[in-house]
Amino acid sequence: MQWESVIGLEIHTQLATKSKIFSGAATAFGAEPNTQACAVDLGLPGVLPVLNKQAVRMAIKFGLAVGAQVAPRSVFARKNYFYPDLPKGYQISQYELPVVAQGKMEIELDDGSTKVIGITRAHLEEDAGKSLHEDFHDMTGIDLNRAGTPLLEIVSEPDMRSAKEAVAYMKKIHSLVRYLEICDGNMQEGSFRCDANVSVRPVGHAKLGTRTELKNINSFRFVERAINVEITRQIDLLENGGRVVQETRLYDATKNETRAMRSKEEAMDYRYFPDPDLLPLVINTQDIEAARQSLPELPAAKKRRFMREFELKDYDAALLTADRDVANYFETVVRLAGEPKLAANWIISELSGRLNKEDKLIQQCPISAELLAGMLQRLAKGAITGKMAKDIFDAMWNGEGDADTIITKRGLKPTDSAAVEKIIDHLIAQNPAQVEQYRAGKDKVLGFFVGQVMKASQGKADPAQVNSLLLEKLKK
Ligand code: ADP
Ligand code: MG
Repeated sequence: MQWESVIGLEIHTQLATKSKIFSGAATAFGAEPNTQACAVDLGLPGVLPVLNKQAVRMAIKFGLAVGAQVAPRSVFARKNYFYPDLPKGYQISQYELPVVAQGKMEIELDDGSTKVIGITRAHLEEDAGKSLHEDFHDMTGIDLNRAGTPLLEIVSEPDMRSAKEAVAYMKKIHSLVRYLEICDGNMQEGSFRCDANVSVRPVGHAKLGTRTELKNINSFRFVERAINVEITRQIDLLENGGRVVQETRLYDATKNETRAMRSKEEAMDYRYFPDPDLLPLVINTQDIEAARQSLPELPAAKKRRFMREFELKDYDAALLTADRDVANYFETVVRLAGEPKLAANWIISELSGRLNKEDKLIQQCPISAELLAGMLQRLAKGAITGKMAKDIFDAMWNGEGDADTIITKRGLKPTDSAAVEKIIDHLIAQNPAQVEQYRAGKDKVLGFFVGQVMKASQGKADPAQVNSLLLEKLKK
């Protein structure tokens, strides 16, 4: 039997507001436990929630950016359940009437084609506190600093057909919320996390299979792995006559397996009802227009502009625009040095490679856009060779200063053309057999000569110059 997998994601993004969604307490990450939870976050009697306008603006921006409908009127509801890190006994969320509905996001597939993933809804809600199971003997610690942090939960249609597609979609949403500056996107700190819903069905069947939900996965790599092991588990189960139970499962990264957490069949009834402490959220056309005016250039538009303005290839433009800070870095380099193609190549290969290797973000890059631009200018003018450029890059990475400083300090200078000519004349005199072969039409011999010149100049000759001088002198 051929199986098809079906995936829908619920992505939780912590909105980057300074204060909480219904109180004035700070949201900064990493404070001492329980120092950033006020009476409202603790659900003490007699307090009232006041909606954070900034969180609403952020939700509207997101809605506009994914071409969704922003609801003129949406409603906050209480989702009732008991858990130690939820002091009120209910979470304020949106249920029947979310603030954002019916958006879409385009993803690129491996074969170069694109696919549109539907966004069912995005709603505002508050985060819960944190239960800390480590560090306490036979006890659980409760940190309520996170309680009341604003979340935008982005729910997709079950439109994805592989773990790869799910990750591509998640990366797109991640890129977008960072562009919009509505979420810092920090996955280690839990600012951006997702639940993956997974089912399988025989190829050709219209009806969706029973799904399981993989909870709170906070890295792209784990999302891909978790979905793949879950797909395999479900197919194995079905092929051996079993059935998939609708349940919540946890992904264990160390064992690379998923295991049951709680079944939906015994799941609680959340008894949703409109929160009587909060008025319906009314958004008028001025609010929407103001949000529209504040939208930055979005990734897709930036990519098209890079292709047009800098004549970059689709693939390169996509890589350079996936992250807003990388795109800004690239544009700064080009503004200072010109040479967009050279800049694109260096940023995509050398710079990104180095950042990845050292697990650094562009913001932590030891080579500023100004420094890279300075080096690329020297390279483009032929003042240094490609080999020297790489050495200078390493030296700049290690904090040895700008290109000129390093060039002077190390005496880096391409061998001048008179010296290169001398080397070539010498080689031609020494290798008559190879000269004959070349002149008889064996073009490959040119490579032999280039190699010999580079060797004789200890890598200091400019390969382009060597090539043209050789062509001239070998001609007859
Ligand atoms: P719940 O609130 O119980 O989590 P929803 O109906 O809101 O359920 O669905 C949550 C997510 O599950 C959505 O992203 C949706 O696309 C996805 N989903 C629903 N049915 C399936 C299915 N059969 N297979 C895979 N994903 C599904
Ligand atoms: Mg769910």
